[in-house]
Amino acid sequence: MFLLRDACGSIELAFTDRSIDLSTAAVDDTLGEVARAAGVDALATMHQVHGNDVVWVDIAGTQPKADALLTDVVGLGLLVRVADCVPVVLAVPDEQLVGVVHSGRQGLVSGVVPGAVDALRERGATRIEAWVGPRVCGHCYELPAAMAAAVADAVPEARSTTSWGTPAADIGAGVVAQLSAREVVVHDVGADLCTVEDERLFSYRREGDASGRFAAFAVLRVADE
Ligand SMILES: [Zn+2]
Repeated sequence: MFLLRDACGSIELAFTDRSIDLSTAAVDDTLGEVARAAGVDALATMHQVHGNDVVWVDIAGTQPKADALLTDVVGLGLLVRVADCVPVVLAVPDEQLVGVVHSGRQGLVSGVVPGAVDALRERGATRIEAWVGPRVCGHCYELPAAMAAAVADAVPEARSTTSWGTPAADIGAGVVAQLSAREVVVHDVGADLCTVEDERLFSYRREGDASGRFAAFAVLRVADE
């Protein structure tokens, strides 16, 4: 189920693979499966809308309309679902805060990741570390020329060209640049895991409407003292 697992202080995080589809209607059952595999009792998710709203959650079962979910509640797992967009985990080990973010093309331009980082800083976050997960790479994510230009105008680091020479965007590189500009320590674990090229993952570009969703997961555990 988990393609990658890692930890940052008392924060655990993971990225799932296509062995579990988190887009299905029976979402409570599949969420339960993820929760059991991850060893958490409670999970919070969001209804992702390609916006830049950042929401703090403290209970499971809610599904706010947002693209960034943050919490300070120990044991409450957070889940962000993707299939080509960039999943990001934000870990604040010293102040015990955690978040997950969904950033596609629109989220990159509207700054959902910087917004989430700012919200953590407002709550006193000092050192923030980010895990940037698997996503469509800059050589596969073809866009109409005007759209690619608009992305590059907003975030120059996202400028890219497909492997066949047409306009593209590297959303992951753009997100990494936004994080670095806010002095976040970046672990780009998805740099070589393109969803279009790696069949262990779901990809909307490769599979169309039939594509499932994989997830990034994060939870605060009780800190060791
Ligand atoms: Zn690719």
